[in-house]
Amino acid sequence: MNTKETQKIQAAFKEKIDYDELMNCTRCGFCLPSCPTYLETDKDEVHSPRGRIALMKGVVDGTIEPNESVKRSIDMCLGCRACEPVCPSGVKFGRLLEQSRDAIYQHHKPPLFSRIARNLAFKQLFPYQKRVVGITSLLGIYQRSGFQYIARKVGIMKLFPETLRTMEKVLPRVPKRKELKKHTAYFPPIQKQKKKVAFFSGCLMDTVFKQTNDATIKLLQYVGCEIVVPESQGCCGALQGHSGEADQAREMAKKNIQAFENAGVDYIITNAGGCGAHLNDYHYLLKDDPEWKERAAQFKDKITDITRILVDLDFHQQPLRKDSCIVTYQDSCHLKNGQHTFMEPRKLLEAIDGVQYVEMHDANRCCGSAGIYNIIESEMSMRILDYKMEQAKKTEATTIVTTNPGCLLQMKLGIEREGLTEKMRAVHIVDLLLEAYENKESDADA
Ligand code: SF4
Ligand code: SF4
Repeated sequence: MNTKETQKIQAAFKEKIDYDELMNCTRCGFCLPSCPTYLETDKDEVHSPRGRIALMKGVVDGTIEPNESVKRSIDMCLGCRACEPVCPSGVKFGRLLEQSRDAIYQHHKPPLFSRIARNLAFKQLFPYQKRVVGITSLLGIYQRSGFQYIARKVGIMKLFPETLRTMEKVLPRVPKRKELKKHTAYFPPIQKQKKKVAFFSGCLMDTVFKQTNDATIKLLQYVGCEIVVPESQGCCGALQGHSGEADQAREMAKKNIQAFENAGVDYIITNAGGCGAHLNDYHYLLKDDPEWKERAAQFKDKITDITRILVDLDFHQQPLRKDSCIVTYQDSCHLKNGQHTFMEPRKLLEAIDGVQYVEMHDANRCCGSAGIYNIIESEMSMRILDYKMEQAKKTEATTIVTTNPGCLLQMKLGIEREGLTEKMRAVHIVDLLLEAYENKESDADA
């Protein structure tokens, strides 16, 4: 970083960081054992929540220069927010992290490749769902045309870093373009109606993981929900918000608030922990905008994870069955730490006949996926994943269940890296619940 850049970043820290939030930290250190990067760096304080807060405060106070090592500490954070629920002072670390990244990336010019990648992903792709559909269709052509087979056979994939190579192997078969057409905007309940809800369909969840979105809608119908799917909704903007693109994230938030505010529903349902946590924070993102602040607060109050509404509407009391298997659960950090939802997924899994639920040690520790962290901070991400897979193997589970697309891919990546694809699978919870529900229905028909 040159001097001019450093001065601008320092000024941006002063302007953007919530100083009261920084001051809430009493430096007690209770958060240290929960921080994966602290543990994986042999307890290096620079890579701990307390250390990062001290660096942020130093930069705002002008006693520390925002140099490469400050940036490195901020970049290395997973944003998993495991430090929040254990903090006796209630420090909202996730917000401080986003504010720091916003301050850094507004003025720091990353290397050319990274600049192009950020611009393409954050500004040109995810804000436009039609483009996400287009890219997914191309991926489908690659997977189905035989090109994938050829690329692997002649070793083209060797030109890419190992994580991307393995990620390419574990990506699910994506739907064909005609199956990616827009959802029907309305679904009636199948059981006696209990609630009217809106469904937040997301960007990748509605393309690469479309099958899981379809399963979510079916489950909601089975528990008696009338469902609307507003057509003008878009990507939640979490990637932008977590990566220092706050202005872009605010524009995306406004678009979604507008799309849902006249739906007249009891809840807005999400099935991706990361999206849900970000939607839950729209009111904070727009806190300085008088026109949007209140609208954002009303929107946020309706955000509900699918597992929460399923438990509220007694889905776990319905007959559910799987062939005998051991199942374990990997918490989505943002579902647990951002939305305080962790008992509901376990309750649902334990309700399935035939499932032996085994709790994984440190199930609430991040898997290392963290948005695009597993691509840009690959080495640390893989160390965290290796630890996770050690714990998963100890449960002897044949199925690892997750509640977020990033975690799902990371678990698939871990299974592939461990050579366990014949013995273990990773699934989103709604896919497993739908299988279990439909198994019992076909038992009843037989
Ligand atoms: S637990 Fe909270 S108050 Fe204590 S050091 Fe960590 S962030 Fe600061
Ligand atoms: S968000 Fe996660 S990685 Fe970052 S400081 Fe908190 S616990 Fe550590």
